[in-house]
Amino acid sequence: MRSRALIGLSLLTIAGPLAAQTAKPVVHVIATGGTISNTGAGDAARKTGDQLVGGLPGIENIATVESEQFTNVASGSITVANWRALATRINELFRTRPDLTGIVVTHGTDTLEETAYFLDLTVGSCHPVIVTGAMRQANAIGADGPANLYDAIVTAASPRAASRGTMVLMNDDVFAARDVQKMHTTRTDAFASPVRGALGSVATNQPVFFRPADRAECEKPAFDLTTLGEFPRVDIVYSYIGADSVPIQAMVDAGAKGLVIAGAGNGAAVSTQSPGLRAARNKNVYVLSESRTGSGIVGGGAGDLNPQKARILLMLALAKTTDRTEVAALIRQLSGSY
Ligand code: GLU
Repeated sequence: MRSRALIGLSLLTIAGPLAAQTAKPVVHVIATGGTISNTGAGDAARKTGDQLVGGLPGIENIATVESEQFTNVASGSITVANWRALATRINELFRTRPDLTGIVVTHGTDTLEETAYFLDLTVGSCHPVIVTGAMRQANAIGADGPANLYDAIVTAASPRAASRGTMVLMNDDVFAARDVQKMHTTRTDAFASPVRGALGSVATNQPVFFRPADRAECEKPAFDLTTLGEFPRVDIVYSYIGADSVPIQAMVDAGAKGLVIAGAGNGAAVSTQSPGLRAARNKNVYVLSESRTGSGIVGGGAGDLNPQKARILLMLALAKTTDRTEVAALIRQLSGSY
């Protein structure tokens, strides 16, 4: 690992005819905590970003790596305010550091897909952002954190990763942030993209992508945070036999401007939830259907986004406009619904 202070020096020393051969890509790691930093000895003993990068022998042959500590918490303690600050920081880094090839974010795996999708919608850069974590703590036998971080840096350092938005690297696989979901409680292969499949894979220090890059307008974020006001409250309503209107009513009373239904099957709320949903719609609350099945496309809803991601999209869309037709158009365009 190299500290920021050394970068100027290294650029000086590589200036000249050999520069093209010797200059390594520069990757910036932002550490937020999670199992990858957890040593099993409590929050105070979590590994820092510097320590995580320092535990990757040979990474200096791949990239010049620097790190910063953003938070050092379990991912259940990440807040929406953290998301906003993290995306703003990443946008600032890409704007002010033309030397950066990519950024890696380390994160707890429980809510990793949510943070990754938020970044995907709000970072405006053609450079890659790779989010990674670990299923096994740093002190565990067979800890997967070092290999995941190493491969995340390999991916962030590769020109092949450009113009693909935010991605997730776990267990050798590269996933699009919009597609990926944690699908197992403990296994190291807990992450998958159930509808669209993985974007690629890392093998022997190279990411290989199975599909061409698809972000033609990658410099332009789907949502420009500098123009968005406060995010409205958007909640998720789970559907199950016997579910009634009580939680829906409570969410609306708490100020929810949007509700995502984690519906049974193809996005269906159960009939006992209907009065609450009708009352919510009458109060102009935007109700969006998704599915609790964990896979598949909900037409007219949020496509193949899972409920927790549909909630992020709806929150950002409602922060941008309160015009329902425009919100519906944004959701259709960004979710892959119809
Ligand atoms: N898997 C949890 C998370 O997503 C565990 C957190 C931890 O050990 O810090 O953050």
